Amino acid sequence: SKPSEWVELSIQQIERAESSIQSFLSVQPEMAIQQAKKLDESQPSGSLYGVPYALKDNICTEGLRTTAASRILENYIPPYSATVAEKLQNENAVLVGKTNLDEFAMGSSTENSAFQKTHNPHRLGFVPGGSSGGSAAAVAANMVPFALGSDTGGSIRQPAAFCGVVGLKPTYGRVSRFGLIAFASSLDQIGPFTQTVEDAALVLEAISGYDPHDSTSAKHETERFSQALTGDIKGMRVGVLPQDALHGLDNGVADALQNAIRTLSSAGAEIVEIDLPHQSYAVATYYLIAPAEASSNLARYDGVRYGRRASGETLLEMYEKTRSEGFGLEVKRRIMIGTYALSSGYYDAFYKRAQKMRTLIRQDYEKAFAKCDVILTPTTPTTAFRMGEKLESPLQMYLNDIFTIPANLAGLPGISVPCGKVDGLPVGMQLVGRAFDEATLLRVAHAYE
Ligand code: GLN
Repeated sequence: SKPSEWVELSIQQIERAESSIQSFLSVQPEMAIQQAKKLDESQPSGSLYGVPYALKDNICTEGLRTTAASRILENYIPPYSATVAEKLQNENAVLVGKTNLDEFAMGSSTENSAFQKTHNPHRLGFVPGGSSGGSAAAVAANMVPFALGSDTGGSIRQPAAFCGVVGLKPTYGRVSRFGLIAFASSLDQIGPFTQTVEDAALVLEAISGYDPHDSTSAKHETERFSQALTGDIKGMRVGVLPQDALHGLDNGVADALQNAIRTLSSAGAEIVEIDLPHQSYAVATYYLIAPAEASSNLARYDGVRYGRRASGETLLEMYEKTRSEGFGLEVKRRIMIGTYALSSGYYDAFYKRAQKMRTLIRQDYEKAFAKCDVILTPTTPTTAFRMGEKLESPLQMYLNDIFTIPANLAGLPGISVPCGKVDGLPVGMQLVGRAFDEATLLRVAHAYE
């Protein structure tokens, strides 16, 4: 078999499943087939030779519409590609389409997309999680073997958990964000969705590395992560939280987690109890810092430099109309919270205190990692919920990210791996590791899988 056949299969599966799942905002079948046919003719090369894949639609692709699922970028065609897209191209992977997301990656259900709602492939009418719900669903429904998403507070790991696939958020700085439409720049990271941990390791190898175009990208060696998957985790110390830090878990999720702990323990891992005393402040901290940064990042959508422009008699009127027509409800809510938290008079009471709490959360992890090599928690307190169920209550939606947000605040790598099902819906187990120690994270996840 050859690349054009693999891409053909991917496109056929998209044609079959997409009408019910709705994971793509755009599909480029001709372009993909054409690229694959060229690969057919050439000597096989590149670590992802001929592998079809999808990109979350907040990752820029030269000449291809990139919308961030927002009306304000509805017709935006980037003049350049994100570094991750270039790197995958260099490994001869084949882009088949761009996936749905919550507008500007703000959300946990993909219901905040301005264009369509994506369904959970395990049960239609249920959310795939978010904000990278389209990428997660596309991999779960076998439309592509891998897809990229972005994770600011859990947007890779949470939808991976809901859709029963592997989702990896690398260490902050590991993967270049050049060409990622910014949400909260001190938190955003790009990472893969895959069916297996081994595939996650391969894709991470392909997209990692220093990039002079991204000043936050780290000058850190890219390791051969796939070689870390030895299957041996004897003596590895796995940190778990005390029972009372896990209140609010669904029963089924708690049981699945206990089973996962037993499995790791019988594989030779040492289970140690750790404490993250400030974890309960993480959601509140995140919902000051992330909107603050978002309000600043989104100031660039003024109707002049990018995308949509409404007509107005004056410049101010044009700005106002462009932004009120272009942004959706959740994005406006974030801009309001963010500008409020940053305004003089409130800055010290909100933004500055949130930054102090962020430091305490980071220090919690430093202490915990003196006692263990990875930390195991559920990825989410519940399995996927019904569409519409949490739309009326933003706070309920925000609380879904309680286990994923701390790793972003501390800049640490995290992975979600499927660990059973409750009533047919997948449960995710999350592992968080030391900064730049994805190797250990992947090794434990692989031994579990
Ligand atoms: N659900 C969180 C939010 O709405 C995280 C989103 C993300 O990681 N991009 O902000």
